[in-house]
Amino acid sequence: MSAIGMHYGFWSHNWDEIQYVPLMEKVARLGFDVCEVASAEFCKYSDETLGELKRRADDLGLTFTYSIGLEKEYDLASDDPAVRDNGVRHVTEILKSMPKVGATILNGVSYAGWQAMPDHGITLEEKRRKEELALDSMRRLMPVAEDCGVYYCCEVVNRFEQYLLNTAREGAAFVKQLESPNAKVLLDTFHMNIEEDDLLQAILETGDLLGHFHVGERNRKPPGSTNSLPWKEMAGALRQIGYQGAVVMEPFVLMGGSIPYDIKVWRDLSGGALEAELDRMAGDACAFLKKLFA
Ligand code: MN
Repeated sequence: MSAIGMHYGFWSHNWDEIQYVPLMEKVARLGFDVCEVASAEFCKYSDETLGELKRRADDLGLTFTYSIGLEKEYDLASDDPAVRDNGVRHVTEILKSMPKVGATILNGVSYAGWQAMPDHGITLEEKRRKEELALDSMRRLMPVAEDCGVYYCCEVVNRFEQYLLNTAREGAAFVKQLESPNAKVLLDTFHMNIEEDDLLQAILETGDLLGHFHVGERNRKPPGSTNSLPWKEMAGALRQIGYQGAVVMEPFVLMGGSIPYDIKVWRDLSGGALEAELDRMAGDACAFLKKLFA
């Protein structure tokens, strides 16, 4: 049985308005086991605050996973060595904060800038060169991740968000080169639906390199709400590879604010939902995944 989680952004319009304690209380009340949080926020908290958050999570029966989408100034694949150094410093800080809240999964666009796209069509040769820059930076970070007991998961995302890892196969080939048991792949059903030839094959081929799994319907509505994806079959494929990690939903349904801007939500996918209705949607999706992964 996989632990079921919720991404912190579901109820919010802006990245910087999250109140973690009320969020954790809500997420636990709705039945979730995992609260996925913003690594860029958590790494800035004092040890005292992190200790308090850990105690509150323990009381609520929640664990944390850390989400990351590296900003341009931390792009680990930047051509500018100063930017890469800055990224290594930033991710080191994040990794070091993780044991303080008992978090073992760092996930997201963790290997290069999120939405840091080339300004021209690139050749395979150029792509390999950028990949090497990302790998060089990550080779500096993997010993820190290992020391902190963190699985460093690289998210395979669609072509509109990043250009290095668009398919499960590219993700697996990338993390294998790091030669660390802590380097893993993150697959996300929203991105997979855009890029993969075969959703099930992508999971099966990733096998034991899979470290984290994100779920959402094709348009990022909560899982189970539209049944647009082969959920039973995907759960079967995860079982087949012996996946023991968390399954975290990342639904985005609200418009207006910095979160919908970055996620490119230009219409109201919530059906005009107020908070109580959003809670119901999240609770239903949690129950759907608990049943699927029971
Ligand atoms: Mn994701």
